[in-house]
Amino acid sequence: MSYRITLIPGDGIGPEVTKATKRVLEATEVKFQWDLAVAGEGAQDIFGTPLPDYVLDSIRRNKVALKGPITTPVGHGFRSVNVAMRQRLDLYACLRPCKTYPGIATPYEKVDVVVVRENTEDLYAGIEFVRRTPEAVKLTSLMHEIARDKIRKDSSFSLKVASEAGASRIVKFAFEYARANNRKKVTAVHKANILKASDGLFLDVAREVAKGYHDIQFEDMIIDTLCMRLVRRPEQFDILVLPNLYGDIVSELCAGLIGGLGLAPGANMGDDIAVFEPTHGSAPKYAGQDKVNPMAMMLSGVMMLRHLGEGKAADRLERAIAAVTAEGKNLTYDLKPDNSPPVGTSRVAEAVIEKLQNEEDAA
Ligand code: NAD
Repeated sequence: MSYRITLIPGDGIGPEVTKATKRVLEATEVKFQWDLAVAGEGAQDIFGTPLPDYVLDSIRRNKVALKGPITTPVGHGFRSVNVAMRQRLDLYACLRPCKTYPGIATPYEKVDVVVVRENTEDLYAGIEFVRRTPEAVKLTSLMHEIARDKIRKDSSFSLKVASEAGASRIVKFAFEYARANNRKKVTAVHKANILKASDGLFLDVAREVAKGYHDIQFEDMIIDTLCMRLVRRPEQFDILVLPNLYGDIVSELCAGLIGGLGLAPGANMGDDIAVFEPTHGSAPKYAGQDKVNPMAMMLSGVMMLRHLGEGKAADRLERAIAAVTAEGKNLTYDLKPDNSPPVGTSRVAEAVIEKLQNEEDAA
């Protein structure tokens, strides 16, 4: 059997980490047919849009995609391709596991946290009004009328949106994931003491959904308390479920706990579509240098194998990556705090493939 997968190399360092990941996935001997799809800067040049319809059609058809990071211009140019893709395919759950691997120098030994980030609402809903535009002026006067609040005339707005349906499906996703993966606890994260409307709704819904999962422990925590506790004792957390912006920030914090972005994989999931991509961005300053760590994308590939039901291949690939980190020889610059010479992206792929083959020979 062969799996048809949409492959989006992305831009910046995307093509390099994608190539390395494709190599190690193919070395597991699971069969793939790759549907290459160009999105981001390359697509903008060719198609006049960074997210051509054929890319979305390919993902809809194949239901599974492996994606490299894509650059988002700051303050000008196209809005984020990543956010647009998640919204247009309704990939409402962003799954970001953060786990310590052997041999990686971190202050923590036993971190195994899964961040479940809501992906479509909150401050990322894209409802924004720039100061002095007719819409912003209208909104300012409406706010004066209905809320009697003092809003300065030169205000811009980014609306934080939370719906009952949106909160309910992400919290259910977190509990279902906990059940399916033998996890023990879900922590719902919020700032409902201040944001009574939006985060208040998120918290109410989370408490309600939790009642349907007596087999899983539930707690809620204010975002600032969570950050402090994560840094002090991360091992006390299991699954975190959060609104979009907190999820974005906390998943990078968790990546920091386990050795950095080079080891943080991810997936964006809807009801029947899944796009696997690392947490990190396109790091344009390192593009084309065969320098960056491909392990976050490789571990996203491990998640993809599990999603496809190829659990054994996923375990083998994860063990091979862990064997490379444990050995400490073939690591990129980000995992070399001792200043011993780092290797490049493609050498990491070769080292992982060697470990896969060693295991096969020993079997
Ligand atoms: P970034 O993650 O690209 O890079 C931040 C820093 O992290 C880099 O300078 C580098 O030091 C380190 N880093 C990142 N990936 C690494 C890797 N694989 N190995 C080793 N070190 C690594 O974040 P940024 O600089 O804020 O964003 C760059 C661009 O990427 C922006 O345009 C941003 O919008 C975009 N972005 C895209 C995605 C996505 O495609 N899903 C996610 C985040 C950011």
